[in-house]
Amino acid sequence: MIEFSFVKQMGKQLGWYQNNYAIFGLYKGYFFTVSKLNWLRDEQRRVSATLNYLDSTQEEQIKTILESHKKKIGYDKFTVEYGTVKVSFGKWRFKGAKAIYQLLDLLVTLFQKMDLAKTEKCPDCQNNQVTNYYSLGHTGAILCQTCFNEYEQGNLREKTVEKSHWVGLIGTFVFSLLGIVSWVILEVYLNVVSVLAALLILHLSEKGYTYAKGKTDHLKKYIIIGVSMFSILLASIITHIVLLLQQGVIFEQAIELLFSEPKLLRHMLGSALFGYFLLLFFGFAIWLPLIDGEEEVGLARRIK
Ligand SMILES: [Zn+2]
Repeated sequence: MIEFSFVKQMGKQLGWYQNNYAIFGLYKGYFFTVSKLNWLRDEQRRVSATLNYLDSTQEEQIKTILESHKKKIGYDKFTVEYGTVKVSFGKWRFKGAKAIYQLLDLLVTLFQKMDLAKTEKCPDCQNNQVTNYYSLGHTGAILCQTCFNEYEQGNLREKTVEKSHWVGLIGTFVFSLLGIVSWVILEVYLNVVSVLAALLILHLSEKGYTYAKGKTDHLKKYIIIGVSMFSILLASIITHIVLLLQQGVIFEQAIELLFSEPKLLRHMLGSALFGYFLLLFFGFAIWLPLIDGEEEVGLARRIK
């Protein structure tokens, strides 16, 4: 995940919690969430405050204040509805931690002036005392045990459609075969090891995992990387066998030659290594951060 460390630093200072997508916790008694930002994927950084209840006069009051501080603090959009205040900072005008603190202070001062209740009751049922900080997939929350249990059960029902890592692995490999074929064609007939072929293998691997409904957690990424690297090696081996076959060598001999002739072996491994290099630069640097992190559901982690 690409992220300027100041957000984590900020969360640490405040004694907040985190998951892969956000940091969250109490600021002067009120619950706030600050999204982590993936600079390649997200257009905006969002800061939200979850309050127990707001009537329409209170909503208008908050909107008026937010409107008048837009320029000074540097956010460009906000919404106030269902007891939640959401403020978005555009990617390029964002002034970092300073702007977030300014916004938090502005809101807290306003909430206090409006006499809004601090986050002690569960914002979901408005009834029980809050018990813990929870990670709810993409976001974080402070809830009572009952509301969290309900969320968790709903989430488990959704998760049952997911299968194992093995199913994902097979899907990944089957899809990457098409990438292997294009690699072989490009190298045999056009004599190029192409960035396109390397990226195609990576792209198809990911598609295969998703198509097979493989289990989505942190292992997903490594399975896709592993299969892509294996597929590139395989593509390189097949390419060299095809080249030998074209010179009239029979299949068994071609395999024997490939692994006994140092020059051939070096050439074959060189071509695979070049593929890895392409993956590293054009694939992993750009593509990996775009893959979603694990959507944790459970007690949130304290930022250390
Ligand atoms: Zn509740």
